[in-house]
Amino acid sequence: MTLTEEFIRVFDVWEPARPYLPMMVDEAEMALVLAMRGEALSPSQVAQRMGLSVEQAEGLLQRAYRRGIVNKSGEGEGATYSAADFYTRLDVFAKYENWDDIPPADRKAIHRRYLDEFIARVRPKVEQLMAGAPSADGLHNNDILLLYEVEEMLDAATDIVVQPCDCRRLAQNCDRPVETCIWLDKSAREALDRGHGRRLTRDEAKALVRRADRKGLMHTGDSQWRTNGLSPICNCCACDCYPFTAAREIGSKGVWPRSRYVAAYDRDACAFCGLCVRRCHFGAFYHDGGEVTVAGKTARNVQFDPALCWGCGLCANSCPTGAIVMRPLAPTPEGTR
Ligand code: SF4
Ligand code: SF4
Repeated sequence: MTLTEEFIRVFDVWEPARPYLPMMVDEAEMALVLAMRGEALSPSQVAQRMGLSVEQAEGLLQRAYRRGIVNKSGEGEGATYSAADFYTRLDVFAKYENWDDIPPADRKAIHRRYLDEFIARVRPKVEQLMAGAPSADGLHNNDILLLYEVEEMLDAATDIVVQPCDCRRLAQNCDRPVETCIWLDKSAREALDRGHGRRLTRDEAKALVRRADRKGLMHTGDSQWRTNGLSPICNCCACDCYPFTAAREIGSKGVWPRSRYVAAYDRDACAFCGLCVRRCHFGAFYHDGGEVTVAGKTARNVQFDPALCWGCGLCANSCPTGAIVMRPLAPTPEGTR
């Protein structure tokens, strides 16, 4: 078996991506992964196994860590490295490297394979939540957040880093902003340690989130950050976002990402401008084909179906007449998570 064939097997390189493996992993990195044999190793152990100097091993590990080919545990002298997987490598490749050089049809096939893997990873945890579990370890994007809640999190953060959104980089179904994933405190420091992301001031981060909101991106994160600590905030569209796509495929609307609000529509205050129809990702506000007369002018009628609302607040925070407010949903029987 050749080095490449063995690497494809060990690293679980997905079939649609195999023709592009030379763009993603070089021979030294393949040899590194195979030399690790599934173990966590220090740089000196890697040096010994690969016949390198410690300095050479450290350089190779640092590069592979930045490129998502190995993961790191611990700090400084005690740090050890272990092989990552193709899922992790592809995420980094799409965000920071030449993903766009892969032809569109093959990008689409690789993206679909990534989405399938994502759904397979989250499904058991999401199903636990759907069955009433109060929490599920390792799930992100737990809650749909309103804009002011995101701003509260930014006010509390010490370290703020922005990274490209892996979902929009991989899926490329819309032209909304890409540099929108905001990592806070511990996660921000982890991103910087890997050599990823761009540090933001609090004001820069707030401006970025407001712009994302204006561009029609919803916000997700952990609403229980005061207890759990700050973690990444995502700015999501429904067409590219893996969690929202997975939620639709799994049928977890309302549970994950959890809806905590629902829009309430005051038809008497509505100017029938249609902005909410354009802002809503889920068709909860829609034109029904009818017409209304507003200030002597004919406008398209607007209807609202609260059953389709995910509680993102994009409609309410842009309605020019204040005809929409966000109402908190009743606490779930199992409490908050
Ligand atoms: S954005 Fe507000 S005013 Fe415009 S159609 Fe929607 S509810 Fe009516
Ligand atoms: S109707 Fe619900 S899902 Fe649609 S934009 Fe408003 S809050 Fe978001």
